[in-house]
Amino acid sequence: MQYNYIANASVSSSSGRSIPVIDPSDGQPFDELQRSNAQDIDTAVQAAQQCFSTVWSRLTGAERGRLLMRLSHKITECADELATLEQRDCGKPTKQARADAVALARYFEFYAGACDKLHGETLPYLDGYSVFTWREPHGVTGHIIPWNYPMQIFGRSVGGALAAGNVCVVKPSEDACLSLIRVAQLAAEVGFPAGAINIVTGLGHEVGDALARHAGIAHISFTGSPAVGTLIAQAAALRHCPVTLELGGKSPQIVFADADLDAVVPAVVNAIVQNAGQTCSAGSRLLIDDLIYKPLLERLGEVFENLRVGPAAMDMDLGPLIRQTQQQRVWDFLSDAQVAGIPMVAQGRVVDGAPEGGYYQAPVLLRDVPPDHRLAQEEVFGPVLCAFPFKSEDHAVHLANSTRFGLVAGLWTRDGSRQLRLAKRLQCGQVFVNNYGAGGGVELPFGGVKSSGYGREKGLEALLGFTTLKTVAVKHG
Ligand code: NAD
Repeated sequence: MQYNYIANASVSSSSGRSIPVIDPSDGQPFDELQRSNAQDIDTAVQAAQQCFSTVWSRLTGAERGRLLMRLSHKITECADELATLEQRDCGKPTKQARADAVALARYFEFYAGACDKLHGETLPYLDGYSVFTWREPHGVTGHIIPWNYPMQIFGRSVGGALAAGNVCVVKPSEDACLSLIRVAQLAAEVGFPAGAINIVTGLGHEVGDALARHAGIAHISFTGSPAVGTLIAQAAALRHCPVTLELGGKSPQIVFADADLDAVVPAVVNAIVQNAGQTCSAGSRLLIDDLIYKPLLERLGEVFENLRVGPAAMDMDLGPLIRQTQQQRVWDFLSDAQVAGIPMVAQGRVVDGAPEGGYYQAPVLLRDVPPDHRLAQEEVFGPVLCAFPFKSEDHAVHLANSTRFGLVAGLWTRDGSRQLRLAKRLQCGQVFVNNYGAGGGVELPFGGVKSSGYGREKGLEALLGFTTLKTVAVKHG
């Protein structure tokens, strides 16, 4: 049985209810979580408030930084344990789960170094005045986390909030809690004060909603679907609580005829098969210059046919999807494609012997997808890549910008002027030129425009969102 972690102690929910933890590789339950309620959120917020006012707000930046660095080292020491927990919980292949644990350590390392470097400015003003600003923490921040990258999203969100001087109440996804409960325990082991990091598990519409509505939460960082993002923003608006929304994407990769196709092919494949396509920044739309449409699709088709899906522990190219409803969602999209007569270029294969009950989906490459079809417009959140031909630069930009999302874009061309011209015209939060994702750099501010959300996480930019600015004007005659 897993417990909430509040004020450095494992505690049961006051509801007395639990939720099963399912292994996506075989569909079988193997553990249980607390099905918490509003009362548990209130307990966690009170513990956090107590920590903030009596301990955390009195630490210097350097002292906070040392704690974050100790946690980073501890995570590195326990990376295998954390990766194993996340692998079973979320169906991640070994390489992916390990990489996520390493990224988590890196977030705490990065933000450890930032704790004592946050400062305001002095401002020139009228004669006889000295004016300056202070960057102050919000106090207790709430973090609602999805299931696709629990460790990474916890690292970027909670790491940044703590560095800026806040304390945290975290609501992980009901499908992905195990690693985060363990990280909170590790934080206590390395000396984090009781109440600095609190984890409350449960269902979104129960405990997530209670967190979003709690008057003691002074900032909400939400990562998840656009639909739930709207609910969070509405709940927060009722009490004028600031929110960062990291929502979905339908990100384009744009390949011009002058691109280095040897670099394009593996990057395009990785951008859609990583985490079985369950990545907000998945490169799920492939826009190809008409001149190379056929040959590039042929090359990609060969790679897709050789991709293998299997149980997480087999460490294949892809693991299972997170849960049965997600598998059904992908099947629904694919059956719509069939009805619309959208041609399939190639698909991978589920390995022999994969357990019957696992949520497997072979990666699929589709071509000539009508730009207004829901496959071209909506986030599948599975390993489905849709290809479209374009005839000109303007046509490529038009297609790229023609969804409600704007998270990330990939641009493949050797033409330097075109690189900058298009980077300016693409509506999104990050543009990658001749690469996709830049290795996930924790230093690089991340977030979207349009329905991909607002606010930024990652990098030093995130610290601005996790603080509020106070202006002090002193008249000294
Ligand atoms: P989701 O929106 O269903 O759930 C996200 C979190 O919100 C979970 O913890 C869930 O329990 C909680 N929640 C659900 N209903 C709630 C409610 N009514 N009130 C409060 N909380 C509630 O998303 P998901 O299925 O877990 O994750 C997939 C989505 O997340 C995709 O759309 C993906 O693109 C997005 N995502 C975005 C980013 C990004 O940085 N932009 C990163 C990862 C995932």
